[in-house]
Amino acid sequence: MGNLKDKGLTPGLAVVIVGQDPASRVYVNNKKKACLELGMYSEEYALPEETTQEELLRLVQKLNAKEDIHGILVQLPLPKHLDEKTVINNIDPKKDVDAFHPVNVGKIMIGDYDYLPCTPAGIMELLKDTGIDLIGKECVVIGRSNIVGKPMAMLLLHQNATVTICHSKTRNLKEIVKRADVVVAAVGRANFVTADMVKEGAVVIDVGMNRLENGKLCGDVNFDEVSKIAGFITPVPGGVGPMTITTLMKNTLTAAQKQR
Ligand code: NAP
Repeated sequence: MGNLKDKGLTPGLAVVIVGQDPASRVYVNNKKKACLELGMYSEEYALPEETTQEELLRLVQKLNAKEDIHGILVQLPLPKHLDEKTVINNIDPKKDVDAFHPVNVGKIMIGDYDYLPCTPAGIMELLKDTGIDLIGKECVVIGRSNIVGKPMAMLLLHQNATVTICHSKTRNLKEIVKRADVVVAAVGRANFVTADMVKEGAVVIDVGMNRLENGKLCGDVNFDEVSKIAGFITPVPGGVGPMTITTLMKNTLTAAQKQR
């Protein structure tokens, strides 16, 4: 980073948040904090709940043209009256550091990407750290969202894993998960994955961030019981979340270098 600054380049990230969702607020604060720690420049646009689609699109266009901003992140979910798809489609793909724009999604599909999808790429780093050789391994991703499940499956496939995606219509989910050498749970349901679903020694990655009634944050995996049989397991909080932010920072750096 110091080297870049010497060359007069400070990567800049704009974070746009609409409304008062408390979870989104926490994520945005964490992203801003990471920028600050790394010496990046960041701008936050906190817009009121009643912001119109036109106002939001105008801001996106302004940020697309802003020279000191290399990455644009619109925090999802947006309030119901706003059309997320149109907003994402209006972000300049070169500044789309979340890799949600269809151009970047397409690039991920063909394995030729500028920007890694933040959460899945963070998970790939965690997997690398376990030392597991993914070639031919049975990897089961639970969840098929555009931001986690689908790109996750793609990145695993690019590493020559044998990938199964499970979702709410999957039959025999328990048997499928039980076969897996690697399980990635991105369901959004507290304690969804239990010990009886997991093979001894499996690598278990918990993407879920569920707020319990007592206010505590909890993953999709029953950590207490699954940690007794898993070879590796990620905690919530403190597992996948920080890795997502790390990838976002990497993408912002890449964006700045590319836009130079
Ligand atoms: P999402 O869009 O709600 O997708 C959830 C997926 O889970 C869907 O594909 C759904 O299937 C599937 N599902 C729901 N109930 C199921 C069931 N009973 N059996 C099997 N599959 C089921 O959620 P998301 O955006 O992918 O996020 C998932 C979780 O990860 C959330 O808790 C979110 O907060 C968290 N998250 C964490 C990070 C991080 O950085 N740590 C980043 C993003 C998301 P259908 O498609 O059939 O409905």
